Amino acid sequence: MAKKNSRRLLLIGNWKMNPSSPEEAVSLYRRTRTKALKFPGVTVVLCVPYIYIGLLAKKAADKRIHIGGQDISVVEGIGAYTGAVSAELLSKVGARYTIVGHSERRIAGDDNIVVRAKLKSALRAGLFVILCVGETERDSHGRYLTAVKEQVESALRGIDRAEYHKVIIVYEPVWAIGDKALRAATPQDVLEMQIYIHKILADLIGQEIARSMLVLYGGSSDQKNAEEILRTGQVDGLLPGRASLNPEVFGVMIVIADRVARAT
Ligand code: PEP
Repeated sequence: MAKKNSRRLLLIGNWKMNPSSPEEAVSLYRRTRTKALKFPGVTVVLCVPYIYIGLLAKKAADKRIHIGGQDISVVEGIGAYTGAVSAELLSKVGARYTIVGHSERRIAGDDNIVVRAKLKSALRAGLFVILCVGETERDSHGRYLTAVKEQVESALRGIDRAEYHKVIIVYEPVWAIGDKALRAATPQDVLEMQIYIHKILADLIGQEIARSMLVLYGGSSDQKNAEEILRTGQVDGLLPGRASLNPEVFGVMIVIADRVARAT
């Protein structure tokens, strides 16, 4: 998923613990796919609950939509780990992507070291990694900048240079996520953080690879703010949660992403 010369935008739907049945999952997938097929210039990834991955990945075998997981276990391969799902298992049922470091997993105990282990394990299993980073709150001393820098640097430590193109970074400020969010980040906030994350990457791995890496935004993105965030924030796409559960809304976001990609 390395950045190309022409702009190609990525929309990653995070379904979280939804929907409530396989029938609904298939219906949601189909309705999203119908829209996505009309805009092949936009890459659409749906990160769905484990139990739906195999089912939907079979339907997505033509690769017009990609299926991903929302997390993986820190242990690799197979073995006596009750309740765990490794990156390898995910990949074998057809997932091509996985999220790691989502704030809801960080709140549940994943620290930067666990996130790094998961990221490496996902790469070893051949998955594209969607690495979520973001501060819990904004303070006036700039500590939130240090927190994001640590999350990015720690997660990428020790990664082979050839693997960087398989990592997609999503800036997701925790205060902007979910139905209790204060608000979405402003397009200007997004622009600043996009530039800042690319600068962290450039210091870490050099300008050339840093420039080729995708940085997205997530946190209360929807059909109302998508255009401004993509244009002004100059990010490579969006990761909506709630909006991805509504195929009408997500469909409008695909149309917007296509329009913005063509105009830039
Ligand atoms: C998320 O949890 O990744 C997310 C972006 O959720 P929402 O769009 O609902 O704020």
